[in-house]
Amino acid sequence: MARDYYEVLGVNKQSSADEIKKAYRNLARKFHPDVNKEAGSADKFKELNEAYQVLSDPQKRSQYDYFGQAGGPQGAGGFGGGFEGFDFGGGAGNFGDLGDLFEMFFNGRQGATRQHGGPQRGEDLRLDLRITLVEAAKGVEKELEVPHYVACTTCKGSGAKPGTTPVKCATCQGAGQVKKTQRTVLGSFAQIVTCPTCHGSGSSNASPCPTCHGNGREKKKHTVKVKVPAGIDSGYRLRVAGAGNAGTKGGSPGDLYVFIEVQPHPLFNRDGANLYYRTEITFLQAILGDELKVPTIDGEATLKVPPGTQPNTNFRLKEKGLPQLQGKGKGDLYVLVEVKIPTKLSKGQEELLRQYKNA
Ligand SMILES: [Zn+2]
Ligand SMILES: [Zn+2]
Repeated sequence: MARDYYEVLGVNKQSSADEIKKAYRNLARKFHPDVNKEAGSADKFKELNEAYQVLSDPQKRSQYDYFGQAGGPQGAGGFGGGFEGFDFGGGAGNFGDLGDLFEMFFNGRQGATRQHGGPQRGEDLRLDLRITLVEAAKGVEKELEVPHYVACTTCKGSGAKPGTTPVKCATCQGAGQVKKTQRTVLGSFAQIVTCPTCHGSGSSNASPCPTCHGNGREKKKHTVKVKVPAGIDSGYRLRVAGAGNAGTKGGSPGDLYVFIEVQPHPLFNRDGANLYYRTEITFLQAILGDELKVPTIDGEATLKVPPGTQPNTNFRLKEKGLPQLQGKGKGDLYVLVEVKIPTKLSKGQEELLRQYKNA
């Protein structure tokens, strides 16, 4: 996954269009491949352009704010990295209807740029959020309780017991890696491996912090407000930047991805912004016409069934569907009208129908 576009341009979510433009111009001037011959400047320039193309377009920008990079529905496969199951000590059970599954995943980028000893970005987190169709129609703001790792409050993330400071790992001299020489019958081979003493951090704590046992982070729950836009459908994910796990050694926090699932509705079927409803009328209503009350997602509407309506006629109630997620206007409500033929008639009714037949 690419870097956060705001981070790329050195701006934030609150930055104005002008500020973004200015930031882009400054950086583009600095990294333009004609000017900057350093290795990696072309990539950097490409990244800048990509970020600017999205953040300079108000619609793309708001889409990015909501959905992160990819927009639209997509499965977990879109994240590059594999999923890692993660046990938050049964925390998921406390979510009520909000979350079934809480998983931590690592994005692909992280594995590639993992630096020993240096700042490391926190992991992205995933939370599944189930909402009703009515909530999807109107949009909803949810407060989610999200367990995540934060910098340990006791040691402020250093991992050392307050009053002590972490010292350079004696085994690797702070490098986080050591050379390992293997002797075989063919000769000696040198290999660089992660330092077994400090596990790559480059420092060791003479007295580790008693709260976090030296790893600098502790589990906490925080409340995250998520604005679910009207018209959302199952399969979309919303990104809450910075709401994932805290980074280590001053690294930026990961993001929280909220995966949306819209529950089925007892009355309506849904396809995109359109809704489908089925109802029955009597053969007399079909022949003579009638006005029906039909339910809509936010109340009731009147449907005029004209005289002579045929069985299984579809009527369209314009703009009684859901709002379009990424555009203007609303979908429609389609009402399928079925005609019910009575299976039992009273003597009087049968008499009348026979008269009608012979007339
Ligand atoms: Zn601590
Ligand atoms: Zn070491």
